[in-house]
Amino acid sequence: MSFFEVFDPAFQSFVMGNAPVKEISSGYDWVEGPVWFGGMNCLLFSDIPNNRILRWIPGVGTSIFRAPSNFANGHTRDWQGRLVSCEHGTRRVTRTEHDGTITVIADSYEGKRLNSPNDVIVASDGAIWFSDPHYGIMTDYEGQKAEQELPCHVYRVDPSGDIRAVLTDFNCPNGLVFSPDEKRLYVADTGRMFTDDPQHIRAFDVGADWRLSGGDVFHSINPGCADGMRVDTDGNLWSSARDGVHCIAPDGHLMGKILVPQTVSNLCFGGRGKHQLFITATTSVYAISLNRKGI
Ligand code: MG
Repeated sequence: MSFFEVFDPAFQSFVMGNAPVKEISSGYDWVEGPVWFGGMNCLLFSDIPNNRILRWIPGVGTSIFRAPSNFANGHTRDWQGRLVSCEHGTRRVTRTEHDGTITVIADSYEGKRLNSPNDVIVASDGAIWFSDPHYGIMTDYEGQKAEQELPCHVYRVDPSGDIRAVLTDFNCPNGLVFSPDEKRLYVADTGRMFTDDPQHIRAFDVGADWRLSGGDVFHSINPGCADGMRVDTDGNLWSSARDGVHCIAPDGHLMGKILVPQTVSNLCFGGRGKHQLFITATTSVYAISLNRKGI
């Protein structure tokens, strides 16, 4: 069987015919937020409905990293290597310090509680950017059902701790990622997740003082929606979709797909040399080796 679909001949060189999509961990309800820790040779990921973060070590297996996890969703690492997490249950973004203590990065805006932070990235200046859709407070499945106090925005917390809503015209912002040069910010809108409409990724130009402009639709994902996304060192965008991971060129055209048997929620590069792609998809985590290198 083929693990790929090629739409642009250049994609053929990104993948290898003898590198399978392999299930590396399974038995969860809805996995999300993969993040690679090279120094510890392990992958962390969230099993949101089961309120836990798991740790997978190659050749060893999977164990519980943190439970309860406050229904953690997306994760990333900052420039000091610390874990930065979105938590639905506590409606906040946190950082786990090297000694294990938890620092709250953001839990409110203008006196109102955040909804349920979903995905997070750290820019080169140390600022933390995150999306805040309402999925984690809609039901008790991925958090706790609660009243929504704020619209669904994207926020930036600068290194001083000052928080600003930087994108306020989204239905439900979700995955977000900078281009390698940080001149562009991609943000997925999954506001129509429960319909059959195509879902899109918007691209913003990043100017002086991190000011955003533009924001046109960069690419529409079909089938499914773009939830989590990552970029490789050449600026190709790797996006989650219902049928797998879609690779989208910097000009917006679909280059190819990695086919995954379950709906993909998120992905990250990792492993030796960051040539592996780890994919969280519904009840399982998958991995594939690529002839690409991730950021
Ligand atoms: Mg997400």
